[in-house]
Amino acid sequence: MKSPLPDKIDTLFINCNLATMTGNALSIIKKAALAVTGKTISWIGREKDLPVHLKTKCQNLIDCDNSWILPGFVDCHTHLVWGGSRSNEFEMRLKGATYGEISKKGGGIFSTVKATRNASKNELYNQASKRVAALQKQGITSLEIKSGYGLNLETELKLLDVIKLLDENFPLHIEATFLGAHALPPGFANNSDGYIDLVTDTMLPQIKTQGIAKAVDVFCEKIAFTLDQTKKVFETAKNLGLNIKLHAEQLSDSKGAALAAQFNALSCDHLEYLSLDSAKKMARHHVTAVLLPGAFYFLKETQKPPVDTLRNLKIPIAVSTDLNPGSSPVHSMTLVLNMACMLFDLTCEEALLGATINGAKALGLEQTKGSVKIGKDADLVIWDIDTPADLCYLAGLTPLKMVVIQGKIHHDNNLKP
Ligand SMILES: [Zn+2]
Repeated sequence: MKSPLPDKIDTLFINCNLATMTGNALSIIKKAALAVTGKTISWIGREKDLPVHLKTKCQNLIDCDNSWILPGFVDCHTHLVWGGSRSNEFEMRLKGATYGEISKKGGGIFSTVKATRNASKNELYNQASKRVAALQKQGITSLEIKSGYGLNLETELKLLDVIKLLDENFPLHIEATFLGAHALPPGFANNSDGYIDLVTDTMLPQIKTQGIAKAVDVFCEKIAFTLDQTKKVFETAKNLGLNIKLHAEQLSDSKGAALAAQFNALSCDHLEYLSLDSAKKMARHHVTAVLLPGAFYFLKETQKPPVDTLRNLKIPIAVSTDLNPGSSPVHSMTLVLNMACMLFDLTCEEALLGATINGAKALGLEQTKGSVKIGKDADLVIWDIDTPADLCYLAGLTPLKMVVIQGKIHHDNNLKP
């Protein structure tokens, strides 16, 4: 069926190939055209089906020279606002130091918490804005950022404020997630229930009042918080009308994914140790599985997530950078695509769906982001590739020509209008 023609076109891309990422497939249209009106996609189809008068009337006609257009990447899991640096720890680990030894010397997540608490809002913003700019140049047009390096009310609010500022100042779309229950902060040794009380009774109500996070995340793991503590945070979040996400089953089977499913979580993330029973619950409650191959790679893990189980149960699989200073300092979605294929055995199509429409599902944004469809936001990337699989295959290369966000062109290397 042909699409209805728009009355007005602001930008028209012609001589392109589309991978629309609809119907759980690449859904390719070759020799295509794509029209943008205002902030949204107003027409897609074969170029020959587009009447000539619409081409001539268009203000901004862009000949794509047989390039490919895909929806912009949705990076649905990052922790990219942090203070300090951990590259010294990376070097220590290469020389044989264990995580425990690094911790004893004041390293690990607590060095980031300390540096983040000591940093001004400006300093955090300046550091984070470089990371956001790098991701945007990689074709990411929607991004999730979690708090979680403050672990006290003042610093968690400071982090969420920085995330809000980044969203206001950058063209790409940013979703903020509150991850107060990321790690047990100093001062709460042997009192993790006391810290969870602080999260549920003080932090969450403040965050709801200020409206600065849409979702709440927890790290449910033997080195972090228990299933009961996770449940308490979820109950409070649900009562406040906030969405739920979970760091689940990264290092052991804590049964967190099953709990998150009962709370209709948007996503469960990591999932290396996911059991069949928990996966079935995720499927029943339409929870997206977010796989994070960067963390698997940096931690030299060996237990892979059960991708066959996810496939069999038709659970949407998203992939993401997990950009953070400790376990995944990965600033590239194309690198993640390659890792998802090489480390987790995803097909190129699955990896690309994971970085687009399924990333959008993991954030509850699938109505407006993540695929090329009439009426959706015109968040697009024009790639100089022969086939979409090149984005997974050409490791280290980002053959990006142009990024379009809500109809606006933001990065133009060599396309001639
Ligand atoms: Zn994470």
